[in-house]
Amino acid sequence: MRIAADRDVCIGSGQCVFHEPAVFDQDAGDGLVRVLLERPDGALAESARAAVRMCPSGALSIVEE
Ligand code: SF4
Repeated sequence: MRIAADRDVCIGSGQCVFHEPAVFDQDAGDGLVRVLLERPDGALAESARAAVRMCPSGALSIVEE
């Protein structure tokens, strides 16, 4: 799996970062999401999937490879 983030849709709410800071971060300048780890595995993958579901703007998605 790969995490895709659409920065044009992100509203910088930070839920993804709060839920899984090993995978997501917010840009220091514009506050929008940065994906630190595009292909997490194991427990991090499950945590990242949960963070994707929590995103209020729909900016995050999972690409199954
Ligand atoms: S939860 Fe969604 S809207 Fe909020 S910072 Fe993360 S990607 Fe952006």
